[in-house]
Amino acid sequence: MALDENSFSIFLETIKKFVNQKLIPRESEVEETNSIPIDIISEMKHIGLFGISIPTKYGGSNLSMEQEVKLTFELGKASPAFRSIAGTNIGIGSQTIVMSGTDEQKTKYLPKFASGEIIGSFALTEPDSGSDAMSIKTTAKKNGEGYIINGTKRYITNAPIAGIFSVMAKTKDEKSSSSISCFLVESDLPGITIGKPDSKMGQRGALTSDIIFDNCFVRKDALLGGREGIGFTTAMKVLDKGRLHISGICVGLSERLLDEALKFATSRKQFGEEISNFQLVQAMIADSKAEILAAKGLIINTAKMRDKEKNVTLESSCAKLFCSEILGKITNKTIQIHGGAGYMTEYPVERLYRDARLFRIYEGTSQIQQLIIARETIKNFKA
Ligand SMILES: Cc1cc2nc3c(=O)[nH]c(=O)nc-3n(C[C@H](O)[C@H](O)[C@H](O)COP(=O)(O)OP(=O)(O)OC[C@H]3O[C@@H](n4cnc5c(N)ncnc54)[C@H](O)[C@@H]3O)c2cc1C
Repeated sequence: MALDENSFSIFLETIKKFVNQKLIPRESEVEETNSIPIDIISEMKHIGLFGISIPTKYGGSNLSMEQEVKLTFELGKASPAFRSIAGTNIGIGSQTIVMSGTDEQKTKYLPKFASGEIIGSFALTEPDSGSDAMSIKTTAKKNGEGYIINGTKRYITNAPIAGIFSVMAKTKDEKSSSSISCFLVESDLPGITIGKPDSKMGQRGALTSDIIFDNCFVRKDALLGGREGIGFTTAMKVLDKGRLHISGICVGLSERLLDEALKFATSRKQFGEEISNFQLVQAMIADSKAEILAAKGLIINTAKMRDKEKNVTLESSCAKLFCSEILGKITNKTIQIHGGAGYMTEYPVERLYRDARLFRIYEGTSQIQQLIIARETIKNFKA
């Protein structure tokens, strides 16, 4: 059961206030310290942000997809690093268990995800395997009462602070989806080394790093769903949902950038008048607004389809592609409207420009979304 409309609108108001009054004013601090302040994390836990996509039975609020994307439209207005700390619990870190976990795995981990007591990370990417996710080399070999994991995972969000990883590893020596299984691996097990946090272009405060597994033994109850071979298909289902969530964050950030562009354009004067009076500046504002409204419609429509349990692989890839690409264009136009000021670190748009670049890369690059969209469209045509 999703939240009833009244409770949801109260929750949404709380999030709006939290974003405007608590998150946006602390963005520079996050940039300077490369970390999210402890009191902000505590408040996020208190509000219930870590548990929005977890069933109520396990302590979450189980928002519908439509409610979740409406929330991302608001949350996306603050620096994306804030969202990232709860983002893996909401999305790729917890949804493997929600979708395919055994009852024991759900009972053991989901309440801790929902409360924010532990952070979950999703570990698929490797040094030699990014877009070609099926080519992973990490192995999990049966050994007595469990498995031994060996391999390296790369760029894993929240790995330096996570309590548990959903690790995709090969249980069969062949390149096929059924050769990949998922293991729920607690981060303090012997044989795990966490690399030093990556030095990134943007989204400072959202930490990523390598995870190295060197003969790491996990008991057989760590195998997701108690079955080998479901890791890859679960990962793809998790990403279908994650892409919609990310699309909503892209729209929130686009709205924030348009807002920054409007603030600047209505206060900066050249040739004796506000630059917002110039039609070439107005064109940039108009295009941004139209792109945002189109993106919102696409996301809401897809979220409603998912709530009706329809397959949204095609639509969520369209949303991820469109929303991350328009965000790129809107960040660019926002900097342009700011002129030289947009290039200076004292204005938030310089930081947001760097932050926004990631959305066209992770959870499937724009090119991978294009391949999925084309594959599904041609398949539907032939059917
Ligand atoms: C900050 C950050 C956080 C991340 N968090 C996580 C995480 O939590 N968990 C996780 O598992 N991964 C995570 N990733 C990894 C991310 O999902 C990958 O970086 C992404 O999927 C791309 O893989 P790659 O970097 O290996 O690039 P590559 O796959 O090497 O791609 C390089 C370029 O080639 C293009 N390309 C590749 N194949 C094709 C093709 N068939 N046709 C056309 N073009 C193609 C790509 O689009 C891209 O432009 C994160 C990455 C970053 C940067």
